[in-house]
Amino acid sequence: MNVSLPMIIDAPPSSPVQSKNSLFDSHGRQIHDLRLSVTDRCNFRCVYCMEPDVKYMPKQQLLSLDEYIKIVEIAMSLGITKLRITGGEPTLYPKLLELITAVSAIGIVDLALTTNGSTLNRTMAEQWKNAGLHRVTVSLDTLRPSRKDAITRSHTTLKDVIAAIDTVRDVGLTPVKVNAVILRGVNDDEVSDFAQFAKDHEIDMRLIEFMALDAGKKWNRTDVVSAKEMLERIEQEHTLLKEKDSTSSTSMNYRFPNSNGRIGFIASVTQSFCGACDRLRIMADGTVRPCLFSDDEWSMRSLLREKASDDALRQFITNAVWAKSAGHGMDESGFIRPEKTMSHIGG
Ligand code: SAM
Ligand code: SF4
Repeated sequence: MNVSLPMIIDAPPSSPVQSKNSLFDSHGRQIHDLRLSVTDRCNFRCVYCMEPDVKYMPKQQLLSLDEYIKIVEIAMSLGITKLRITGGEPTLYPKLLELITAVSAIGIVDLALTTNGSTLNRTMAEQWKNAGLHRVTVSLDTLRPSRKDAITRSHTTLKDVIAAIDTVRDVGLTPVKVNAVILRGVNDDEVSDFAQFAKDHEIDMRLIEFMALDAGKKWNRTDVVSAKEMLERIEQEHTLLKEKDSTSSTSMNYRFPNSNGRIGFIASVTQSFCGACDRLRIMADGTVRPCLFSDDEWSMRSLLREKASDDALRQFITNAVWAKSAGHGMDESGFIRPEKTMSHIGG
C-alpha cells in the first residue's frame, strides 16, 4: 500500500521502502530495539552528562501518556521487540507506572528501564514488576561515598542506590545491570572494585567508555579509559571467564568462577559497535533519532497531535530508520560531536 504523509515540515526524507512489519536501514541493519525517553528532567547532574544550568524542553512539547503508548504500538507493529524506558530520569515521569502497564499489555517481548536509582524503593519496584516490567538498569559510577556527590552533583547517598540495586534484584527485575561510566582521573581507580561489587551483589556490572555526549562539551579523547585498559586492570586482581556474546551485543561480557555476577565492557569509543546497532531512539518530545551521534532527527509530535493515521506514523518511522547513518567514528580524527546530549536524547 502506498502511504502519502500529510504535509509536515519536519519529516525524514522519503525512503524507497513502504512500511511493513520490519524496520531496515539503508545499510541492511534490522532495528529491533527502541529507547524511549519519557522526560529530559533529572535530579542529578552527572559530570559526564548534564550541566547544573540545564535548559529543559518546554512542558507542552513533551508527549502525553497516550502519545507514548501510540508510539510503542506503532513501533511494535514494525517489528520492535525490545523497549527501554529512559530519560533524563524516567522515575520523575509522573505516569511511569501507567506507561509500564500499558506497554506491557501490548505485549512487548523485552521491557526494561534505566534509572539513577535515587527515588527507587521496594513498593515502586514491586509495582513495576506486577505491571509487567522485566528488567532494570541502575547507574552507579562510584563505590566511594566521598565521591558520589562530586560525580552526580546531588546528595543521594551511595547506601540508598546500592539498596535500590539489591531491591530490584530481589523483586526479580533481572538480570539487573549496573552502569558505570569510567572517567580518567575521576573513578578509573575503581574498576577492580566494580568487579568485586558484581560478584558480591550478583549483578551484571557494565563499565562504559566516556562518550562525547556531555552537556559541558568537555569530552576529550584523553579522558576516555579504553575497555582494553579496564580489562587489563581488572585481570590483575580477578579471574575473568569470557562469555560468548550475541551478534547484537553492545558489551563484551565476562563472568567469574563461583559467582552469578558478570562484568561487561561497553567500548563505544575504541571499538564502536555501529555495524551491529539495532537501535532507534525517540525523545520525550516525539523527536525520532535513528543514531545517537548523528544530528539527523525529525519530530513526529505534530503527526501524533493531528491524529495522523497509523499508516502515516509507520511510514514516518520507516523513513527515519532508512536514513540512519552508518556509524560515528568517535575515535577518528575529524569526528564532530553531536549537538545534543545523552540526557536530552535518552540513554
Ligand atoms: N537517568 C538515568 C540513569 O542515569 O540511569 C537514565 C538516563 S542516562 C542518560 C542513561 C545512561 O547514559 C546512564 O547509564 C549514563 O551513565 C549514560 N551516559 C550519560 N552520559 C554519558 C556519556 N557522556 N558517556 C557514556 N555514557 C553516558
Ligand atoms: Fe541524570 Fe542519568 Fe544524566 Fe546522570 S546520567 S545526569 S542521572 S540523566
